[in-house]
Amino acid sequence: MQCGEYVATNEEVGAIFPSVTDLDDLMAVPYRVKQADTPILRLWSPKGRHWDVPFRGFTVERDRMDQGIADQAVAEGAELRTQTNCFAVRGNEVVTDRGTFAAQVIVGADGPNSRVAKSVGLPSPVTGPAMSCTVDGDFPDVTDLYFGSLAPGGYAWVIPKDACANVGLGAWQHFEGNLGDLIRRFLRRHGWPEARGTGGHVPVLGPVARTVAPPVILAGDSAGHVMATNGGGINVAMITGRIAGNIAADHVRDGTPLTEYESRWRVAVGGPLAQGMRTKRLADRFFANDRLLEVSMRLLGTGRMRRAIQCQPLFLPRRASVAR
Ligand SMILES: Cc1cc2nc3c(=O)[nH]c(=O)nc-3n(C[C@H](O)[C@H](O)[C@H](O)COP(=O)(O)OP(=O)(O)OC[C@H]3O[C@@H](n4cnc5c(N)ncnc54)[C@H](O)[C@@H]3O)c2cc1C
Repeated sequence: MQCGEYVATNEEVGAIFPSVTDLDDLMAVPYRVKQADTPILRLWSPKGRHWDVPFRGFTVERDRMDQGIADQAVAEGAELRTQTNCFAVRGNEVVTDRGTFAAQVIVGADGPNSRVAKSVGLPSPVTGPAMSCTVDGDFPDVTDLYFGSLAPGGYAWVIPKDACANVGLGAWQHFEGNLGDLIRRFLRRHGWPEARGTGGHVPVLGPVARTVAPPVILAGDSAGHVMATNGGGINVAMITGRIAGNIAADHVRDGTPLTEYESRWRVAVGGPLAQGMRTKRLADRFFANDRLLEVSMRLLGTGRMRRAIQCQPLFLPRRASVAR
C-alpha cells in the first residue's frame, strides 16, 4: 500500500479545522485499526540536528482501514464494485470497463491523477512523487522526518508500527530523478536492508481552483485536499469525502445545487489548506539548498515548526495598538 499510514488524532485535526464536527464518528474505522500511538514528530535538519514537535498521531494498517471504510459504506446500502476501471465521464454517465452507469451525482474520489476530473475539464492538483516500504524491527514511538537533499523539497520518514516501521520518502513537484535510488540510499544510511517499495503521487500545493462541474464533484486527492506542510491527506480526504456524500444526498433529496459543495468544503478546511500552501511555497525557496534549509530550520525552532505542521501562519500578527 502506497502510504505512510500515519493519521493525525481527532484532537489535532479538531484544532486545525475547528468548524469540523463529529470527528469521532467520521474516524471510527481508522481508530479501530490503530497500530501505534506516536505523540512526537522529530524533525531532522540536513546536518543532523533535531527538534521534537509535540503532535499526536497514530499509525494504521492502511489496507484494513480502506476495507473497513468500504464495509461501512456497504452496511449503509452502497453497492461496491471493485476491479472496475473508470475511463471517462460523459454527461450523467460513468463509462467503465464493466459497463456504463448513469448517476445523478458523480463523486470523483479517484486520487491525484483523477480521470473523472480530466474528463470533465476540472484542474488536477500539482503533485510530487512519494514512495514507502516496511522495515522490520522495534521502533520508539517517535515519528522521524528527515529534511534536506536526501529528499529534495520533501522529507523522508520513519513511522513506528507494530514490530516494524513504515519508511518512505517524498519529493517536491520539480523532482525528476529516481526516487527508488533515494529511498535505497536512505535505507543504507540507517543500516536497514533493501525493501520493496510502492510509490504514488501526493498533492503538494493545496486544493485545485474548481472542484465542481455538475454532475461531478471532486473530493480527497483529486481535489488536492492535502495539508501541504505535512503531506497528510487521509484526515482531510475523510472530511471532504463526508461533505461530498452529504451534498450528493441533499442534491438528490431536495435539489440542493452541487455548486454548494465548493463553499461547504472551503468553510470546513479551505482556510488552513490555503495557509499550508502559502507556507509550503515559502519553504520551497529554502528546500533547494541544504545550508539555507539548515539555517531556516534553526530560526524556526519548535514552536514555528508546530505552527507550520498545523497549517497556521508562521508568524503571529502584531497586536493591534489600541487608539485612545
Ligand atoms: C507514498 C505515500 C505516502 C503517504 N502517506 C500518507 C500518510 O502517512 N498519511 C496521510 O494522511 N496521507 C498520506 N499520503 C496521502 C494519502 O494517501 C492520500 O491523501 C489519501 O489516500 C487520499 O485519499 P483519496 O481517497 O482521495 O485517494 P486514494 O486513496 O488515492 O484513492 C483513490 C482510489 O481511486 C481508485 N482509482 C483511481 N483511478 C481510478 C479509475 N480510473 N477508475 C476506478 N478507480 C480508480 C484508486 O485505485 C484508489 O482506490 C501518502 C501518499 C503517498 C503516495
